[in-house]
Amino acid sequence: MNLLDGKLVSAKIKEDIKRDAAAFTAQTGRKPHLVAILVGNDGGSETYVASKMRNCELVGFESTNIRYDVDITQEQLIKKIEEINHDPTIDGLIVQLPLPKHIDPDSITEAIDYRKDVDGFHPVNLGRMQRNLPCFIPATPYGILLMLDHYRIETAGKKAVVVGRSNIVGSPMSILLARNSNPGNCTVTITHSRTEHIKEEILAADIVVAAIGRKNFITAEMVKEGAVVIDVGINRENSTETKSGFKLYGDVDFEEVSKKASWITPVPGGVGLMTIVGLLKNTLEAARGTIYSK
Ligand code: NDP
Repeated sequence: MNLLDGKLVSAKIKEDIKRDAAAFTAQTGRKPHLVAILVGNDGGSETYVASKMRNCELVGFESTNIRYDVDITQEQLIKKIEEINHDPTIDGLIVQLPLPKHIDPDSITEAIDYRKDVDGFHPVNLGRMQRNLPCFIPATPYGILLMLDHYRIETAGKKAVVVGRSNIVGSPMSILLARNSNPGNCTVTITHSRTEHIKEEILAADIVVAAIGRKNFITAEMVKEGAVVIDVGINRENSTETKSGFKLYGDVDFEEVSKKASWITPVPGGVGLMTIVGLLKNTLEAARGTIYSK
């Protein structure tokens, strides 16, 4: 088994981003600027946003976290988004999900100017991604592509099985792996909670991407000898063993599956760190205007 080491790869790519950000700042007199809106005080969301902000600082970006109480109305939120859309000093905008029930996430996603949509969730970006045109790719699948690329994992002609079909991970991942690009050119099967014979589907895969949200869902008996296994899952459990009071588990039973896999991502230390890199790269591209000219 070889480790797809998110710590190592993310540190390396962040060095490149830092250098490029410094060049951008030297040229324009300002730093790439990411704004993150956080509504309410969901523990997981707070941790993710704090980490995104911290990483922005690390690579020399400006970052702003705008926080709202859980009772903000959809109209108020959209008004703020429109203000940011028109602010030339802001390059990227993300609204951390999940949102409270009274706010429709699709309306929020579509309110964001697609040229600042560094999460890559806007239908314009999703449509362009599907057509293999320049766009912001959702951060988690983007990070996974960067990881596969770093380790020169051969994907062309391979059978990939994506478990989970969410808008933010499973669905875009399946599109990206099937595209005519590198990494890509896989024969992709996308599976979900209604899939029959899911074990057999996964067992046939050369590349497995698990994005389910269930601790240790993928067991060794479901994985083919020599498969590449990408574990997106982040499942938190309370723990007395850690300082933070919780422990993270993936969707893959790492201990057993790693005995069969040729390559595998750990949790933590795998896809989560690469997701941040995907977001930082998108923000840098937004600032430079290389995907959508300013
Ligand atoms: P969602 O809950 O939006 O989607 C989960 C998907 O898994 C759904 O498509 C669902 O199917 C499918 N699923 C659930 N149960 C089963 C089952 N028993 N068999 C087969 N499929 C099943 O989750 P996300 O995609 O947002 O996230 C998935 C995991 O990845 C979570 O643990 C999340 O925390 C983590 N995550 C990690 C990130 C990172 O940076 N590492 C970033 C984003 C997410 P159906 O559609 O039929 O309901």
